[in-house]
Amino acid sequence: MFSYFFSLLKNKDKKKMQNEKMSRWTREDSVELYSVENWGAGYFNINNAGEMEVIAETPQGPKAISLVDILSGAKQRGLGMPLLLRIENLLGEQIKKINEGFIEAIKSFNYQSYFRGVYPIKVNQQQQVVQEVARFGAPYHHGLEAGSKAELIIAISTLKDTEACIICNGYKDKDFIDLGLYVKKLGFNCFFVLEMPGELDLVLERSRALGIEPNLGLRVKLSTKIGGNWAESSGERSLFGLTTNEIIEIIDKLKQENMLDCLKLLHYHLGSQIPNIKDIRSGIAEACRVYCEMVAEGAAMGYLDLGGGLAVDYDGSKTNFASSCNYTLKEYCADIIEIIISTLATRNVAHPVIITESGRATVAYHSVLLFNVVDTSRFEPPKLPEGIASDTPEMMKNILEVYNSINQKNLQECYNDAVYYKEELAQMFKNGMITLRQKALGEVIFWNIIQKISTLVSKLKHVPIELDGIDRVLSDIYYCNFSIFQSLPDFWAIEQLFPIVPIHRLNEEPSRSAILADITCDCDGKIDKFVDMHDVKHTLPVHEVLKGEEYYIGIFLIGAYQETLGDLHNLLGDPNIISVRINNDGSFDFVSEMEGDSISEVLSYVEYDPKTLFLQFRDTAEKAVRDGVISVYERQNIMQAFDNGMKGYTYFER
Ligand code: PLP
Repeated sequence: MFSYFFSLLKNKDKKKMQNEKMSRWTREDSVELYSVENWGAGYFNINNAGEMEVIAETPQGPKAISLVDILSGAKQRGLGMPLLLRIENLLGEQIKKINEGFIEAIKSFNYQSYFRGVYPIKVNQQQQVVQEVARFGAPYHHGLEAGSKAELIIAISTLKDTEACIICNGYKDKDFIDLGLYVKKLGFNCFFVLEMPGELDLVLERSRALGIEPNLGLRVKLSTKIGGNWAESSGERSLFGLTTNEIIEIIDKLKQENMLDCLKLLHYHLGSQIPNIKDIRSGIAEACRVYCEMVAEGAAMGYLDLGGGLAVDYDGSKTNFASSCNYTLKEYCADIIEIIISTLATRNVAHPVIITESGRATVAYHSVLLFNVVDTSRFEPPKLPEGIASDTPEMMKNILEVYNSINQKNLQECYNDAVYYKEELAQMFKNGMITLRQKALGEVIFWNIIQKISTLVSKLKHVPIELDGIDRVLSDIYYCNFSIFQSLPDFWAIEQLFPIVPIHRLNEEPSRSAILADITCDCDGKIDKFVDMHDVKHTLPVHEVLKGEEYYIGIFLIGAYQETLGDLHNLLGDPNIISVRINNDGSFDFVSEMEGDSISEVLSYVEYDPKTLFLQFRDTAEKAVRDGVISVYERQNIMQAFDNGMKGYTYFER
């Protein structure tokens, strides 16, 4: 009776302590834990209700909207998870920041020309995104960069502003060139950037045939090499661009043709996501030297196009780590202007119009992927038995002894012993020396050892190399309703990190550590690297998923490159998309919504004809009726289920 009473008291105390612990955890703790203020760039934060919010600048000050509110609005409109959320205000803000960053630097250094940004369509080609770029860019004459005929068609049908630039990169055939020449004739600032010497002859031939003079630019291969994920795209052995010798040959040819006045632009692109400002400075200085020489050769010039590379601080560490950058936008603009002024002054060359092709920095912030957790697998080794049988083999007793002897000073030694004994036990089982039950007991002891070591390691200041990341093997797996291959291809392909945060319950302490697995069931379909201020984290702090409640997670800053590079692995198609505009009064509108791919759509992408599939399956059902396996009524239900399946969403639906 008394022990029952005490256990009740104990439970009550435990609950009280848990509640106190939970109530001690604040939104500020979550802000710090997930580094939100470091990568959020002022666009994302956590509100007092413990929900992630997006913040937009408006003429009436900053307005914040909870992502949970946006999510429930999407649900009311019938859009389930996963959901790609675009917040158009953030796109507008980034275009404004890039343009005003240059305008300010131009003013403060008294630069004698101006800035014209262009958005490279390849970074996110979706119609709504390009249209918004053109709309927000209009006050700044922000143009578009096209790397193919299809992108040129998007550019010329979207842009109306003849003061904006259209830059044609990539290899150009006759149709591409003809279209570009006609666009120039229409009064647009359309440039052909020659990537290969061979392109010139065709451009000159088409120019003569149509009687339209081209605006020519050259893409130079600089010797400057960059750090980060795109190091290979820089340096003299980079794939694209012209060597200095090829530049001379083109200049000579244009001189011969008496067309040097068509050569107006120098372009280079060192690679995307350049984390170190030193590399940016070095690239621009080298390009300015080439520019001066082109002027000296008699080319008309007037435009210097620095390409892309302006990085996004995905992890918020403000370092030259590949997922970060050690400079601000203000420093980027100021350094460029300062170096152009000082390098051109040595040769008394007039200041060119500066073009940048920033894609990532323009669109990354404005998209967030939201999804729910469909299942979890907890890592929890079973409890150790109170005692073990006296006939237990010596090896088992040894491993139990390891468990009992663990302390802060012998962690590495105990780890080594545990691994050794576990391997020995496996061998003994193979040789028939221990039973399956004994092997199971050995493994239970082993995992208890690892758990105990992991708890003590987390309290160490200096972690031995072998024990670094031991928590990883103990993490839970949260199965999430999305596909990495479709929505986060750069994580899979180049281990690009993105900030990932639960979007609610952030005033509760996250009690679990998990890796995220997508629903492709592919062993590559997992996220086990997360942003960290000092290194890379291998697990994500998450909350216990409560029975009967959805748990939502967001992947942030995914607006650049992820949408069209994604593929149809496991035939998981495009997710639902919703676009939101935050108004000056703090309300928000759903400006557009697009249902993700249906199953019949993705099947048609891989050459199946949904109608034929229906008829083929109908034959199977008909035969089953003939053979007496199902009734006609059941056949009807089965065909209905097939039809519903075809119309359904490719992702997991509750
Ligand atoms: N310009 C060119 C020629 C590119 O190849 C790219 C992409 O790598 C970009 C611009 C966009 O670069 P970023 O997204 O780093 O701004």
